[in-house]
Amino acid sequence: MKLYILGTCSGTEPQPDRKHTSFVVEAGGGLYWFDAGEGCSYTAHTMGLDLLNVRSIFISHTHMDHVGGLGNLLWNIRKLSKVRKDLPKEKKIRLFIPCLATWEGFKQVLENTEGGFACDFEVEAEPIKGGTVFQNEDIKVTAFPNQHIKTEADSPPRSFSYVIESEGKTVVFSGDVRSIEELNEIVSAGCDALLLETGHHKVEDCCLWAKNKPIHKLLFVHHGREILADSEACLAVAQGILGQKTDICHDRQEIQL
Ligand SMILES: [Zn+2]
Repeated sequence: MKLYILGTCSGTEPQPDRKHTSFVVEAGGGLYWFDAGEGCSYTAHTMGLDLLNVRSIFISHTHMDHVGGLGNLLWNIRKLSKVRKDLPKEKKIRLFIPCLATWEGFKQVLENTEGGFACDFEVEAEPIKGGTVFQNEDIKVTAFPNQHIKTEADSPPRSFSYVIESEGKTVVFSGDVRSIEELNEIVSAGCDALLLETGHHKVEDCCLWAKNKPIHKLLFVHHGREILADSEACLAVAQGILGQKTDICHDRQEIQL
């Protein structure tokens, strides 16, 4: 499984060389998009990824540091299909998003831009309820509600973590979580990599939590101010606990699992 890290910043103030959260899984020649922070499609395109290969988009929750680049992503797919006179590989791009009102807002913006956003492809938005949200012969994506966004007991969950299975590998993406213990059950089956946010947690706490769990690689994403202030010092702390099985991801990083 190949991962492309597009953005690694949490929703704090803008930081040099780091955009908001987004990464891509390449599987079976398709691109599967996880979160869509600012500039994600710019970064992917300039890394050499073909946006016309986007198959599905999965949003963990609809805070701006996770969806700010969604409009540009879809606009760039349309633009590329016009400039290259080429069609997206999928006529229907499926968008899995916890809050459909957020999608309606983006749709309104897009429909009031160039050409009324008339496309040769369709975007089908679907709410996420938890459980298996997507599965084909190349990839399986399962969503787990988390407590990052508190909702009333009778309201649908608004924030999710994801388990991504492809090519015999398993990746867990925390999304944003209220407490890292929320991930205990999800990682208990083991994973090749955990992409863990540190916007709301301390690096040392995360490493001590992960130490005796069946997590093959602990990859930090969605960095908060602690890591951004001195990422080398944080990496030294992390590797002091977990050795080489941990890394602090940066924008434009490619990871082969
Ligand atoms: Zn966030």
